[in-house]
Amino acid sequence: MDAIVAAQALSEIGYLLRQQEKERFRAKAFSAASWTIALERPDLGRLRKTDSLTSIDGVGEGIARVLVDLIDHGESRYLNRLREQMGQPARNDESQLDFAGYRGDIHSHTTWSDGRATMLEMAEGAQALGYKYLGITDHSPRITVVHGLDAERLLAQSREMAEVQKQVDGLTLLQGIQVDILEDGALDLPDAVLEILDVVIASPHVKLRQDPAAMTERMLRAVANPHVDVIGHPTGRRPGSREGATYDFEAVFTEAARNRIALEIDCDPARLDLSPEMARMAHELGCDFVVDADAHAPAEFAYVPMGLWMASRAGIPREKIRNFRPSWN
Ligand SMILES: [Zn+2]
Ligand SMILES: [Zn+2]
Repeated sequence: MDAIVAAQALSEIGYLLRQQEKERFRAKAFSAASWTIALERPDLGRLRKTDSLTSIDGVGEGIARVLVDLIDHGESRYLNRLREQMGQPARNDESQLDFAGYRGDIHSHTTWSDGRATMLEMAEGAQALGYKYLGITDHSPRITVVHGLDAERLLAQSREMAEVQKQVDGLTLLQGIQVDILEDGALDLPDAVLEILDVVIASPHVKLRQDPAAMTERMLRAVANPHVDVIGHPTGRRPGSREGATYDFEAVFTEAARNRIALEIDCDPARLDLSPEMARMAHELGCDFVVDADAHAPAEFAYVPMGLWMASRAGIPREKIRNFRPSWN
């Protein structure tokens, strides 16, 4: 059994459990084991033979039993049961998106805002995975709690980026921003600033409970902005703890498709936004996607294989995912 496939299954279990109030703790354990396996790629067959799966960090008896099932039968009965309970589609092997073809991630954070690693550490993490590019997209000024970046700090950041770029061969750093979509749909930085950045990810972060009509206007204004490349975590949901924004998804996604703005599948397991269900709907409306880790530390790049698994289960074809294209946009 390929370690990545096992990690993907554990991750899906974590995702499904997260939505059940009393299983939150177990959900986190599955997610944590999942990315340990995605990062370390242990030889699962050998560990199974020697009965030592619990030697993997974060794998206890319960998770080891799921792994045994995966290794011996190629599927997890526990996962199948959860899917059935929660009305999720069964696995669809044919459409699986292979992480090997994933060229780069355009959504990541550094210590310039709320990331836990420096730009250099993030760049080296991406380089180690063989990525061709990495988007550095810290938060915008309105998100004051995380020290969001204004024009002046973006300029200073670009100087650091030029230095870091010299230290990472084969990886192109893209300077971007995750700009907040304000209540009225304006963006949290002037056009003149957005224009010069390589990547603009626009996201709603606050006032997600706006009434749906106002929220629709807000999102429509954002997808009409010519500088926006991607709508990041389009609903702001946190499965199991925060319902996302409600708006006329069909209208907004249709406009996004028309304006060639991609929708994000944010692979952070605490978000998974768009959800597979909504991604399927956006796909039917003609949208493109980016699948991103929204990493705040290099280890979180491991979220991507899980997000790809969920995207493939939503029926999103590879050619609609920009991270597989030679150039992300
Ligand atoms: Zn953040
Ligand atoms: Zn982010």
